Amino acid sequence: MERNNIENNNNNLVEVINLKKYFSVGKKKLKAVDDVSLSIKRGETLGLVGESGCGKSTLGRTIVRIYEPDGGKIFYDGKDITRIKTRKEHLDFCKKAQIIFQDPYASLDPYMTVGQIISEGFEIHNMYKENGARKEKVHELLRLVGLNDEHSNRFPHEFSGGQRQRISIARALAINPEFIVCDEPISALDVSIQSQIINLMNELKEKMRLAYLFISHDLNAVRYVSDRIAVMYLGSLMEVAESDTLYNQPRHPYTQALMSAVPVPDPKKEREKERILLEGDVPSPIDVPPGCPFSTRCPYAEAICLKEKPELRDLGDGHHIACHMAG
Ligand code: SF4
Repeated sequence: MERNNIENNNNNLVEVINLKKYFSVGKKKLKAVDDVSLSIKRGETLGLVGESGCGKSTLGRTIVRIYEPDGGKIFYDGKDITRIKTRKEHLDFCKKAQIIFQDPYASLDPYMTVGQIISEGFEIHNMYKENGARKEKVHELLRLVGLNDEHSNRFPHEFSGGQRQRISIARALAINPEFIVCDEPISALDVSIQSQIINLMNELKEKMRLAYLFISHDLNAVRYVSDRIAVMYLGSLMEVAESDTLYNQPRHPYTQALMSAVPVPDPKKEREKERILLEGDVPSPIDVPPGCPFSTRCPYAEAICLKEKPELRDLGDGHHIACHMAG
């Protein structure tokens, strides 16, 4: 097992090592996640960015074991949870690690009241059994996410998109998790509502010392919530760095192109900024090119890039990059 390319210290709540998740498409394999290693510390938000279809949602879902991994290891709080089998092991892990989905319209059962939705986990995990305790906890959670007690008797269709995402967050928090995968939690919402949900998630993170894997294609939103950011392309990580470092000094050619497309608030700087336009399309994840996954579009590709896949390596200060030419 390779542990050399990620930080291995006791603060790590989540450690993913050489994780693979493939899907069969006819006789071929779609390599949605291909040898990904990363770590997330307690109380940390790791942003995960990349274009649609790069495998970021699959990675998040595999980490919380919605998908069975096809290779590699996942450690949670030092325990190997890759091969958990029994119902008890699954329940113990679910209690600590939750997921919030992109679409608050589809992820809430329309036939259940908000109170029933939020308290579903109490039944499963045998929590708050005393008389009235569950109702009281539901009210507490509703207030925590900016709703009120009376909302517990209503149905999801009676709420706006932003309110529904607040309900999803309350449901995820109900069983006191430590880690939440946020799978594009704002992309289905109106722009005016997005910042409210992001602010709420930041507040909850501080209050409850949560760790997030925050998946989004919105680079500005990711910067606002993340301590560190990982950039994914065609099932592999290209770069991982502190949030500000990644925005101010991206080192990987793919990250540089992505960042050059992010609008900056200062109109003068925006005009002066050089936009890097990549040629060609993203190859199909069914036919990932040999060598570096980015080689078909990289302006700096050399012969080695077409043959050998670069490892994600530490350039110092935790700045990791997967590029033969880096450093
Ligand atoms: Fe470009 Fe080669 Fe670096 Fe890949 S390894 S990003 S192809 S220079």
